[in-house]
Amino acid sequence: MTDSMAEIVDLPSAERGARQPRPRYGDRALIVCDNLVKIYKVADLEVVALQGLDLLVESGEFIALVGASGSGKSTLLNVLGGLDVPSAGRATVAGYQLAELGPREQTRYLRQVIGFVWQQTGRNLLPYLTALENVALPMAFDGVPADIRATRARELLRQVGLEDRADHRPQHLSGGEQQRVAIAVALANEPEVILADEPTGELDSGSAAEIFELLRRLNRELGVTIIVATHDPLVSSQVSRTVSIRDGRVSSEVLRHRSGPTEDDHHIETEFAVLDRVGRLQLPRAHVEALGLEKRVRVDLEDDHLSVWPDRSSRGSGGAAEPRPPGDRPADRGDAR
Ligand code: ADP
Ligand code: MG
Repeated sequence: MTDSMAEIVDLPSAERGARQPRPRYGDRALIVCDNLVKIYKVADLEVVALQGLDLLVESGEFIALVGASGSGKSTLLNVLGGLDVPSAGRATVAGYQLAELGPREQTRYLRQVIGFVWQQTGRNLLPYLTALENVALPMAFDGVPADIRATRARELLRQVGLEDRADHRPQHLSGGEQQRVAIAVALANEPEVILADEPTGELDSGSAAEIFELLRRLNRELGVTIIVATHDPLVSSQVSRTVSIRDGRVSSEVLRHRSGPTEDDHHIETEFAVLDRVGRLQLPRAHVEALGLEKRVRVDLEDDHLSVWPDRSSRGSGGAAEPRPPGDRPADRGDAR
C-alpha cells in the first residue's frame, strides 16, 4: 500500500491512478491483483473475504472464476470493478490503481474501462426503458451524440442476436434475452474488461449455454478481456483458464488448449497449483489425501521438479524422514511441479 502511494505521490492529480512508471510484479498484465486483502467489518466481527490474493490476467483472456459460495468471488469482482476498495494490497486494471482513484478517475474507470453484468437480471437493466434505450444509456452518460448512440446501440443488439427485440422492455424479454441485453449494455462504451458475476445463475441450462457461447464469441471477435464468476460446470469447457478460489486466495488454475489446430482436436487440460510470490504452494486436496500428508512434508529438489514426501517421523518411526528407495516412489503423485 505505502509503496504504491509513494509512487503516485508526485504525479499531478489528473494522472493519479495512471500508468506505472517502473517495472514490477505483473507489469505487462492488464489486471494485477497483488496480495489483495479485503476485510469486511460487521459489528464487532471481521470477515476476511480476500486473504492475500495474487492474480495476473493478460489482455484478451477469458477466465472463469470458480469456488464455493463465500470463497470471495464477488468480493474480487467488486474490487476489480471499482465498486469496493481493498483493505490492503494492490489492484491495478489497465493502468488504473484502484485503491487510489480520485472521484473523476473513478467515474472514467467505471464508464470506459469496465463493463459489469450481474446475476440478477433485474439489476442490469432499467425496467421502464426499452432494450435499445438501455444499451444507449451508458453512451448518453459518456456524452455520445444521440444519432451515434442509436446506431451503435442497434449494432450492439445485433451482435448479441437481439436486433428484433430493440423496442421491448425487459419484462417482455426472457431471462436469457435480458442477460444478452445486459451484455450489450456492458459493451456500450467499449470497455477493456467485462466482469460478470454469475450471469447465468438465474437461467436454465440452455440459455446459460447460449450466454457463455456469446461471451466466448465477443472475447474472440472484440478481444475484450472477460472474467466470469460462476458455479456452472459447463463453463469450464468454454474458457482457456479456470481460476479456483478457496478461502479468499487462488488455490489452483486449469489451463486448456487444443491438441491441434482444428475444431475436432480435443482439449488438453492441465491443472496447476499456484505458487504465490513468496513461494507458498497450496497442494491439491486430493493429492494431500491420497498420501495422507499432514503437518510436515519433505520437499526434495530433483533435476527438473520437486518431490514431496510424507513425514515418516511423525508416524512413530522417530528421527528424520527416510527417503523411499528408488522404484518405490508414488509415481509422482503429490509432486509439485
Ligand atoms: P462468493 O461470491 O464466492 O460467494 P463473496 O465474495 O460474496 O463470496 O463473500 C466472501 C466472504 O465475505 C463471505 O464470508 C461473505 O459472507 C463475506 N462478505 C461478502 N460481502 C460482505 C459484506 N458486504 N459485508 C460483510 N461480509 C461480506
Ligand atoms: Mg458471489
